[in-house]
Amino acid sequence: MLNQELLDILVCPVGKSELRLEGDALVCTSCGAKYRIEDDIPIMLIEEAELPEGVNSPDELKCGE
Ligand SMILES: [Zn+2]
Repeated sequence: MLNQELLDILVCPVGKSELRLEGDALVCTSCGAKYRIEDDIPIMLIEEAELPEGVNSPDELKCGE
């Protein structure tokens, strides 16, 4: 389980918005990008993130606006 302290300091790499824990992934509260957690380590790379519905490329993400 990812600890809360780590969760508190992690932000979305797109626009530095807060993340929330959703199952075994971290989801940006602003742009909705979903970062998976592997072996308790969140993969905070937009290239690896699952994009929200309707978004085809990371360039289209609106984060922190
Ligand atoms: Zn974001």
